[in-house]
Amino acid sequence: MPRLIFLGAPGAGKGTQAKLIADFCKIPHVSTGDILRAAVANQTSLGLQAKSYMDKGDLVPDQLVVALIQERLNNSDAQKGWILDGFPRNVAQAEFLDSLLNEIDQPCDYVVNLEVPDEVLAHRMLERGRTDDTEEVIRNRLKVYREQTSPLIDFYLMRKKLTVVNGNQFMEGVAADLKKLI
Ligand code: AMP
Repeated sequence: MPRLIFLGAPGAGKGTQAKLIADFCKIPHVSTGDILRAAVANQTSLGLQAKSYMDKGDLVPDQLVVALIQERLNNSDAQKGWILDGFPRNVAQAEFLDSLLNEIDQPCDYVVNLEVPDEVLAHRMLERGRTDDTEEVIRNRLKVYREQTSPLIDFYLMRKKLTVVNGNQFMEGVAADLKKLI
């Protein structure tokens, strides 16, 4: 079963596609955004620490997300494969993940970059109507993506792990391209 990392700007369709492919392969869809939103809703200590960052569209401090991903990948349901959606989000997280995957002997098969033009991204985010999807927050999330997350494209290119998939097509088209990959 595959181990995949989904990269892509906010609004690229990572969450939708990650869910589809995870269901198709019967492996867990590990979304740090979903885990953090649940923590906020349940007012856990993690949620209370993460909320103010999420409300602004900033990244939650590395030490919090790194701990949650380590715990999640050690879970018994994650031993046969997984799809990471929304992690890593910066180079420090990617380096952490590299050494974690080495340590637990779970090499990642592909890093998929879902490519979508900038003008389509903001439009898609406004359409989904999440509470952290106001115009100002969207602008900040795109900025954070450009400054902190997009360097991961080169990071994985250099490690010969990166695969590009055209995310600017109907949902079914993207899913079909992804299924061809795995
Ligand atoms: P997402 O659902 O992936 O768009 O994530 C929603 C929000 O959760 C982001 O805007 C961040 O505030 C936070 N978040 C999710 N994943 C991470 C991560 N890997 N590192 C830091 N913050 C994250």
